[in-house]
Amino acid sequence: MQTSEIISIVLCRTMNIPALNLDLLSVGIAVAASLILGSVVFFGNRKSATNKLFLFLTIVNSFWSVFNYLAYHVTNPLITLWIVRLVMFFAVLQAYSFLLLMYTFPKQSFQMPRKMFAAISGLVLVVLVLTLTPYIFSGVEIRLGEVPRPIQAPGIIVFGLVAVSSVVGGIVILARRLFKTSGKERRKFLYLLLGLIIMFLLIITFNFLLVVLFSNSSFIPLSALFTLPFVLFTSYAIVKHELLDIKIIGTEVLTFVIIVVAFVEVILSSTLGEVIFRSGVFIALLVFGVLLIRSVVREVKQREKLQDLTIKLKELDKQKNEFISMAAHELRAPMTAIKGYVSMVTQGDAGEISEKARGFLADANTINDRLIRLVNNMLNVSRIEEGRMVFQLETEELSHVVRAVYSQFIPEAERKGLDYSLKIPKHIRDKVSVDPDRIHEVIANIISNAIKYTDEGSVMVRLVQPNKEFVQFEVEDTGQGISKEEQEKLFQKFYRIETNVGKTTGTGLGLYISRLLVEKFNGKIGLESELGKGSTFWFEVPLAISIPKKN
Ligand code: ADP
Repeated sequence: MQTSEIISIVLCRTMNIPALNLDLLSVGIAVAASLILGSVVFFGNRKSATNKLFLFLTIVNSFWSVFNYLAYHVTNPLITLWIVRLVMFFAVLQAYSFLLLMYTFPKQSFQMPRKMFAAISGLVLVVLVLTLTPYIFSGVEIRLGEVPRPIQAPGIIVFGLVAVSSVVGGIVILARRLFKTSGKERRKFLYLLLGLIIMFLLIITFNFLLVVLFSNSSFIPLSALFTLPFVLFTSYAIVKHELLDIKIIGTEVLTFVIIVVAFVEVILSSTLGEVIFRSGVFIALLVFGVLLIRSVVREVKQREKLQDLTIKLKELDKQKNEFISMAAHELRAPMTAIKGYVSMVTQGDAGEISEKARGFLADANTINDRLIRLVNNMLNVSRIEEGRMVFQLETEELSHVVRAVYSQFIPEAERKGLDYSLKIPKHIRDKVSVDPDRIHEVIANIISNAIKYTDEGSVMVRLVQPNKEFVQFEVEDTGQGISKEEQEKLFQKFYRIETNVGKTTGTGLGLYISRLLVEKFNGKIGLESELGKGSTFWFEVPLAISIPKKN
């Protein structure tokens, strides 16, 4: 009785299952594992020549494993002869794909020079044809009660030479790369080498030493299993640096286990119907398993890509913010200087000027103010968002600031021919705790918008007392108005109403900054508006000392 049969019977007894064909099980495991790994590697990166060659090797390996198994289990002499020939056929392809893989690994593009590839392929083709002729196996020897044995012909020497030199060539290439590289790259070659060593150790021990020293050839049908270490380590080396993810490995292991179980079921089938049905299930599971692993690989890849992109985007965003801050900072100084000179010339420091020149200077001043506001908003955004803004809180009468900003816009409102007015009730309580410069910017943003987006009619600036704890600033205009949907988005960063983009200059930062600042001073900002009828923008801030309640 063969050793594998004894193992099989012992295993079955202990597991309490019907006799199980261990040879077939080993082939099934080897083929399933080989094909799954080959597909996973290939679909992980379809363009890579290394991955393509690896898939090719695993397919060839699977065919070789199946024919190798059949060679020891078929009793018909003619079929045996052809199966043995096919074993040799795929053995040549195996050696050939191994050589090409070693030459290319781990590169994405095919590495072998064309002429060399053509010469080797030509030679391999000749030997491939030869394996199917009587020059390698002339016939089979039939002994009673034994599996037919093939009779070798002289051509087997050619086969041996080509196969062995391809394998040796591959190993030499691998060894050379191993010495030439270092670090991470080297580790990849080491994995390959490790897989190869284990494979050869198994083959030498079971297919050679046992056969020659103890005349025990019972492990030869298990050969398919011996190639597994190489397939495993190579696929690991290929994917490790691309996709080492616990999710993928988990899916692979689970799929593999399910497929092996399905395969055991096929072997245990007692009727033909069962064999057909279970084989169908096995194949379906195999296909499904590969698809599942593929989709997990794809998902993990996408996740990694997203992570990379997020990091890149964050870096870009940081650089952009730094650039905006720097540019805004550099722009502000000269604009403030321009403002100073314009005001000096207007005030007559450079001698008398005509009314016309005064008008031009007023326009220049307005435009310059707008630029300063824009630059300030840009600077404020990054400062507030990064928490770098320092607030100089003071108790300030809001009416002072409002008056100052109001006056600043008189020329612009006049130029547009708007009815521009200010209304501050006499006894209004308006002492608030704010940073005067910042609240100045908020008020300027709101008034400037009202004038900018109103072509005719009026802009009314007011202070009101909504209750005893707050004072409210309001600007009512008769401009274009804002729809309900737009109102919700208005205080978001960079938001500008579609119809205004391109028509008026702006960044969509003014209201966003104003909201952040008002909220910093514990206030609220908002608006009432109707499309076509105008808008009222307002903000309220708490009074520094609330009005005492009357008894
Ligand atoms: P900017 O004015 O620089 O575009 P803002 O943040 O100050 O940015 O304003 C955002 C958008 O809100 C503007 O683009 C404009 O479309 C709209 N808007 C602001 N104020 C008014 C207003 N008084 N009337 C009509 N639309 C306005």
